[in-house]
Amino acid sequence: MDTKKCDYDVLIIGAGPGGIFSAYELSKNDPDMKICVVELGRPLDKRKCPIDGKKVKSCIKCPVCSIMSGFGGAGAFSDGKYNITNQFGGTLYEHVGKQEAIDLMKYVDEINVSHGGAGTKLYSTANTKIKTMCLENGLHLLDAQVRHLGTDINYVVLENLYNELKDRVEFRFNTAVERVRHYGQGYAAETKDGDITAEKCIISVGRSGSKWMEGVCSDLNITTHSNRVDIGVRVELPAEIFAHLTDELYESKIVYRTEKFEDMVRTFCMNPHGVVVNENTNGIVTVNGHSYEDPAKHTANTNFALLVSKHFSEPFRDSNGYGESIARLSNMLGGGVLVQRFGDLVRGRRSTETRIRESFVTPTLAATPGDLSLVIPKRILDGIIEMIYALDNIAPGTANDDTLLYGVEVKFYNMDVEIDENLETTSPGLYVIGDCSGVTHSLSHASASGVYAARHILEQR
Ligand SMILES: Cc1cc2nc3c(=O)[nH]c(=O)nc-3n(C[C@H](O)[C@H](O)[C@H](O)COP(=O)(O)OP(=O)(O)OC[C@H]3O[C@@H](n4cnc5c(N)ncnc54)[C@H](O)[C@@H]3O)c2cc1C
Repeated sequence: MDTKKCDYDVLIIGAGPGGIFSAYELSKNDPDMKICVVELGRPLDKRKCPIDGKKVKSCIKCPVCSIMSGFGGAGAFSDGKYNITNQFGGTLYEHVGKQEAIDLMKYVDEINVSHGGAGTKLYSTANTKIKTMCLENGLHLLDAQVRHLGTDINYVVLENLYNELKDRVEFRFNTAVERVRHYGQGYAAETKDGDITAEKCIISVGRSGSKWMEGVCSDLNITTHSNRVDIGVRVELPAEIFAHLTDELYESKIVYRTEKFEDMVRTFCMNPHGVVVNENTNGIVTVNGHSYEDPAKHTANTNFALLVSKHFSEPFRDSNGYGESIARLSNMLGGGVLVQRFGDLVRGRRSTETRIRESFVTPTLAATPGDLSLVIPKRILDGIIEMIYALDNIAPGTANDDTLLYGVEVKFYNMDVEIDENLETTSPGLYVIGDCSGVTHSLSHASASGVYAARHILEQR
């Protein structure tokens, strides 16, 4: 038997929600456990995107993106919407069971509430009149409870979690793990400062680590599958138009099946009184959005994404490459994100600086006016236009000429990594959790998967 001594009991790669909640659960239940968290980004208080709207107006493609990387992961400056549901946000329930998945998400919610989130609102979509109104118009409202922390409180919760963890867990920031290899009965993570070894390894590198994750799986002979990407636009309109939905539900996840192609189009990441932002994934600039809990930071607009899922079949495997190519087209035409008035899109003309300036909706992101029909495939764009008209039936004004569409919003999915019911790979003691596993796509699911993997490790001690 190989008895090489390891530096740590558990090594966690990535300090996003998955990694943080693994570290929290392990260190809370076994204070003697030696745990190391390695993160390529910076500590929370050192994360700063250089875009200030004055000197730096758009993404300058920093080598390490402060929006996506560092303590808190991709979720640190997000809207902090923790959805408690099995209907979207991931398929954790397929591994751990439906009730267990919900219980884990509720547990994560309790921790967030006890670390600064008390006083934030928990919304619910169940049994609302809105659900009926949607059904009457061919729209389907998905069931969920949503804890909205808001960008500001989300930051406070992360700050409190870090302050609690830093004495129990060793954090190594600004340290990218280059490779993971077997080391005795455990694993060695190769970094510029040398190897870090541990008996168990939890990988939680998120979406930004998807390419790296592919390399690890190939090195360790772990099977992966990849076939999905979501493509669409971010819609921005006066907050009043969606107020009856957002006041009651905050976030409504609505699905629509198009008449033309029977494709599914869905709303995603709704931000009442929010702002539209750039997102940089591996140097490609796409669009996203968030909003603040603090009323002083509210804008006059609400934004949300409209997305169409593209599933590919063999022999094509590079669904993310397909999404990247579409996003690159918008970056080529606009130097980043494009914005277009809905009225211009349906009239087949580009938006210009003047048309945007004269619009009754003031954009919250300085994007380049252009023509999204030159970027987004026709079938996807037709679906989005059809859904905008369908939403106009439940929220009149959605299909107004001045409604702004930003493109491209792309949701890249990690390939599915082959993991078992404990979230462990075929390589014993190596767990893959959060968004990089392909199993989760949200804060609550990623965090819950972290707790679950940690509990499995604790059970074995
Ligand atoms: C702008 C924005 C808004 C969002 N809003 C919401 C929301 O409101 N609600 C919601 O549910 N979801 C939201 N999401 C999605 C959510 O943030 C993710 O689902 C979640 O963060 C996934 O957690 P994770 O731990 O799996 O990965 P991540 O949060 O991506 O964390 C992974 C970490 O691993 C690090 N890493 C990567 N590679 C390496 C390496 N080789 N070595 C060391 N470290 C590495 C990264 O730097 C990163 O910090 C949003 C995402 C963005 C970008």
